[in-house]
Amino acid sequence: MKRFFLSSFWCIVAISCAYAQKNDSLFVKKIYETALTEPKGYEWLEYLCKKIGARLSGSPQAAAAVEFTRQVMDTLGLDRVYLQEVKVPRWTRGRQEKAHVTHSARFATLPLRVCALGNAVGTGAKGLEAKIIEVKHFKDLTSLTHAQVAGKIVFFNNVMEQKHINPFTAYGLAGEARRNGASEAAKLGAKGVIVRSLTPNLDEFPHTGSLRYALNVPQIPAIAIATIDAEALSNALKTEPDLQIYFETHCNMLPDVISHNVIGELKGSEKPEEIISIGGHLDSWDLAEGAHDDGAGCMQTIDVARLFKQLNIKPKRTIRFVMFMNEENGLRGGQKYAQEAENNKEKHILALETDAGGFTPKSIGIGDEAQAAQVRKMRLWQPLFVPYDITLKQGGGGADISTLRPLGTVLSGLQPDANRYFDYHHTSQDNYETVNRREMQLGTATIAAFIYLVAEYGI
Ligand SMILES: [Zn+2]
Repeated sequence: MKRFFLSSFWCIVAISCAYAQKNDSLFVKKIYETALTEPKGYEWLEYLCKKIGARLSGSPQAAAAVEFTRQVMDTLGLDRVYLQEVKVPRWTRGRQEKAHVTHSARFATLPLRVCALGNAVGTGAKGLEAKIIEVKHFKDLTSLTHAQVAGKIVFFNNVMEQKHINPFTAYGLAGEARRNGASEAAKLGAKGVIVRSLTPNLDEFPHTGSLRYALNVPQIPAIAIATIDAEALSNALKTEPDLQIYFETHCNMLPDVISHNVIGELKGSEKPEEIISIGGHLDSWDLAEGAHDDGAGCMQTIDVARLFKQLNIKPKRTIRFVMFMNEENGLRGGQKYAQEAENNKEKHILALETDAGGFTPKSIGIGDEAQAAQVRKMRLWQPLFVPYDITLKQGGGGADISTLRPLGTVLSGLQPDANRYFDYHHTSQDNYETVNRREMQLGTATIAAFIYLVAEYGI
C-alpha cells in the first residue's frame, strides 16, 4: 500500500511537471510569435534613434530619452512607472578633434582619424605636440622609465586579439589601455596618450569610450585612433621614430547634472517581495544614435513589459523594467539603483542586463554567483529554449546590474552573437539602420521567456 502510494505520488509529480512544461512551452511559443509579428520594440528604437539621437549623460537628449521611455511605459498599464533621481557627470566633446603628423616630410599627410576619449580633459585651441613612444601592450609601460616617457605622447597600440572566441574577452583585456592608460602614462611624465580603437577590425572609425583618471595624478589629454591609422602610424614610426604628432581636443567636464533612471514595475501576485530586474542603459555615446549600445537593450526591456501585459501574463514575483542612466561614463544609475535597493531592504533575486547589441540571441548567461542548486533549477528550463536555438550557460551580468552583486542577486545577461558588435561599438556607425528588426525581436522574446520562468518558479 505504502509502495503504491509512493509510486502514485511520483506519478502525479511527473504528470504535473510534464503539464507545466507543456503549458510553459505554449507560453514561450506565444511570446516568440508575438514579439516577431508585432515588433513594438523595434518601432520604439526608431523613435529613440531618429527623433532623439545621441544621448550622452546630462545632455538635453538624455533628458528627452528619459521622458520618452517614461511616457511609453505609462501607456502599458504597468503597476507603477517612476523616475529615480541620479546625479550624472556632464562631459562634452566640443569642437571636432584634429590630429596630424609633424616633423616629417614623408608622413605629413598620414590620415589620423581620432576622437577624444570620454571624461578626458581637452588640449584647448593650443593643442598638444610631442614625440611618440609606442607600446604594444599596456603592461609594457611598466618597463619604461620616466626619462623615456617624459614629455612624450604614449601611443598604446594594443590590439583586440582575434584568438578569443568571445570578442568581449578581447575587449576586456585590451581595454585597460583606454581605461587607465592616461593616468599610468602621466605618472611617467607623458603629456598625452593615443589609444588604438577597441575593435578587432581594421576600420577607419575612431571608437570612443571612457577613461578614468587616478587621484593625485596630472590629468592629460587622451584620444582614440582608428585601427587602420594606428597600423599606419606604427609603420611610420619604424621609419621615422622622431616624427611628432599634433592633436587638438575641445572636450570638457562640466558640473554634475540631475538625471534619472526610468523604472516600470509589475507587482508579483504571490511573492511580490522577490524582485527581478531587467534593463539596459539609456545613455549613449555622442558620436551616433546609440542603436546597438544600448538603445536596442532599452527598447527590448520595455517590449518585455509590453509582452507580459499583452499576453496577460501575471508574474508571481515582481518584475522591474529599468532604463539605467550613465553606464557609459560613470555608472551612476546602476550605483543609485543598488543603493536604493539596499536602503529599502529589497530582496533582488535576479537581474538581467541586455547591453551587447541587438543581434541574434545565442544564450542567456547566468553569473558565477548563482549557487549550484539555482543553476540546476534553471538548467531544467533548457528544453523550452531548444526550438529557439538558445542555450542557458554560465557567465552573465552587465555593468549596470553589477552593483547588485553585493546584495546577493544572481546576475544574468542576454548574450547575442557578438561578432559584429565592434563594427559599431562607440563609433559614428552605431545607428538605427544597423539593427536588424528580426534579430532584435528574437532577443526580446528570449528575455521575456526567461523572465517569465524566473517569475513563475523563482530560482
Ligand atoms: Zn553599453
